[in-house]
Amino acid sequence: MTNNLEAIRSSNHILKQIRFSYFLLFLGSISWIPICSQQELIPEIILLGIAQDGGYPHIGCERICCNLTLDNDTTRKWVVSIAAIDPVVKKWWLFEATPDMTEQLQLFKELTKGQYPYLPAGIFITHAHMGHYTGLMELGREALGAKGVKVHVMPKMANYLRSNGPWSQLVNLKNISLIEEKFDSAAVLSARIKVIPLQVPHRDEFSETAGFRIKTSALDYLFVPDIDKWSKWDRGLVNELNNVDVAFLDGTFLSITELPFRNIKTIPHPLISETIKILENEADSIKNKVVFIHFNHTNKLMWDLPSQLKMMKIGYRIGRQGIRY
Ligand SMILES: [Zn+2]
Ligand SMILES: [Zn+2]
Repeated sequence: MTNNLEAIRSSNHILKQIRFSYFLLFLGSISWIPICSQQELIPEIILLGIAQDGGYPHIGCERICCNLTLDNDTTRKWVVSIAAIDPVVKKWWLFEATPDMTEQLQLFKELTKGQYPYLPAGIFITHAHMGHYTGLMELGREALGAKGVKVHVMPKMANYLRSNGPWSQLVNLKNISLIEEKFDSAAVLSARIKVIPLQVPHRDEFSETAGFRIKTSALDYLFVPDIDKWSKWDRGLVNELNNVDVAFLDGTFLSITELPFRNIKTIPHPLISETIKILENEADSIKNKVVFIHFNHTNKLMWDLPSQLKMMKIGYRIGRQGIRY
């Protein structure tokens, strides 16, 4: 009897802890939603995906990380992309055309209750790696057969799309209309949103790599899903964090223990442990701007609650799919 009582008490205690953990997660996710968003029409950003290019679950993975998604579809995550919305003109812009774009357009439609056109007013693309642009194929003749969707890219990326199939067909059939942007020069999207491309160091086989500063009439955002190392960035991470309110940053790998057989120097991403080290002496207000995204399937921040809570405790946020910022 005593044993039974103790078992009940301890399971109640665990239940309370779990509830409290979810409450903390909930607080973490809403803390940056502008309080006035319900009354005023102000621009917002919605996170439509948080996974690295290979997605989650990941091809060929039979480890615990990807097995978690087998019995529960809701634990699957899309590849990183964000939507910037201007509710005054009822337009929106998509950042990255991912392999999950079809699901992400549907997610956007559901989250915004169908108040916006199905297709964005433009798509901004950072670079020519598979998770960032291959969704463009959905706009082509075999799928949507779209007409003149504006695709904002840097000059090398534009050239790559114009001169290589199947992308060149999208250009020739005018499914997409390429708009060449310039680094450090603002693209004005509406009276409330402008986008400034920033050059970032990354494996540039086919194109240069951009990050974006998205300035809105409400908050300013930084979007850098892929970068080699912060130390290689002449702009400086802290400097850029000072310029914005919210920063979506490359969080591909949590630490080197995730990749026991690789030399740390050959990994072309800042480990989250390295990013934390760079920011360790910064104020909490700076750390709290950081929202980690672009998680590799092995990164526990995508699927492990205790790891997520540990990160939030030291002041950082973890990108959550479908959340407004
Ligand atoms: Zn990527
Ligand atoms: Zn990349």
